[in-house]
Amino acid sequence: MDALIGQLEDVEPDNILKSAEEFKNDKSDVKVNLSIGVCCDENGQLHIFKSVLEAEKLVQQRYKEKPYLLSNGTKEFSLLTQKLIFGENSKYVMEKKICTVQAIGGTGAIFIALQLFKRLHIHEICVTNRPYINHVNMITSYGFKVKYISFFEDKLVNINYDAFLYDLRNLEDGSVVMLQVSCYNPCSTNMEEIYFDQIADIVCKKKHVIVFDVAYQGFGSPNLNDDVSLIRKFEERGISFVVCQSFSKNMSLYGERAGALHIICKSKEERKIMANNLRIIIRKFYSSPTIHTNRIVCQLLENEKLKSEWINDLRELSERVHKNRVLFFEKMEFYQKKYDLNYDWSVYKKQSGIFSFVPLFAGIYDKLKEHHIYIIDNGRINVSGITARNVDYVAEKACLCLAVE
Ligand code: PLP
Repeated sequence: MDALIGQLEDVEPDNILKSAEEFKNDKSDVKVNLSIGVCCDENGQLHIFKSVLEAEKLVQQRYKEKPYLLSNGTKEFSLLTQKLIFGENSKYVMEKKICTVQAIGGTGAIFIALQLFKRLHIHEICVTNRPYINHVNMITSYGFKVKYISFFEDKLVNINYDAFLYDLRNLEDGSVVMLQVSCYNPCSTNMEEIYFDQIADIVCKKKHVIVFDVAYQGFGSPNLNDDVSLIRKFEERGISFVVCQSFSKNMSLYGERAGALHIICKSKEERKIMANNLRIIIRKFYSSPTIHTNRIVCQLLENEKLKSEWINDLRELSERVHKNRVLFFEKMEFYQKKYDLNYDWSVYKKQSGIFSFVPLFAGIYDKLKEHHIYIIDNGRINVSGITARNVDYVAEKACLCLAVE
């Protein structure tokens, strides 16, 4: 083994992991971590949902033994998680067209989907420019080619819909495209409803396969359903697609690895074949998903009282994060005067999710580190990590760094 290990070449962690490590090693008292992809409370600690804690308590009282689950999870988990994405009155749910498996977080769902695409001899997967970096890591490391399509335009600080729709229209028929419906990571945008019909028209005509990565449901709008309205539009139009669902952020279950993969099939018969294929993929990789996670998610979603508490908490949390964002950019407006800067920060106040995406900050990423402020090198900051205690410090130093750039 020594000889084998000796052959290993060192590899760089991705920018998110790298920044997390640098933050950990920084001994300063004033250090601020805005690179991390978790939702913080007003003290900068991991947010906790009381409803999720209560669900876990009930699980611990009710169950003692921890048997293996089947590779796909449980019927109950599938149905409860489907309803969050597709709604209570979903035709796809009622017609049993959705093949669902419990996954090891959203990342696990993406992994299973990619393995399925391997079986289906797909060679290339499209991501939007300004992609979620782990999509690219996963796509390339599993041997697919990655293709970038137009999406976010830095100058607009928004999606360039003309360019996006043009590229979607001009992709080869049947292309596989990864998209996020709301709180796009890192772009921090929601796709606008006025474009949904055009997107659905192109996808129908070109028979593209859309993989929706839903990692921030509940953070983009006050109503959970609104965050997945493009998916509901696809259902209305009878389109078949894939959803990778994560509960890491919206249930604060990061380490429990809570997620699901949903694939729309034409019929119950096709769904059975799909389920057998997914089970084989899972069996060969990690055999079966985690039972404790399954039970917490089921307990939370089947208990009407806990579910509505969770939805209310989630709404309050996302409102608080939004207020943080507004406060931070108001402070930027204030401190920039001190440094004779004249940027328009109002555009960023409209962003959504736990991040803000400020391409300008990419240029001061290294300088911010000298002030013990950690962000992602593309300019993404975690606004949930902004607190009353650090907001002035971060805004003042960001303006200082921009002034000396
Ligand atoms: N997809 C997107 C867009 C994300 O931002 C994240 C997490 O940051 C994930 C997937 C991964 O989710 P999980 O932690 O559940 O694996």
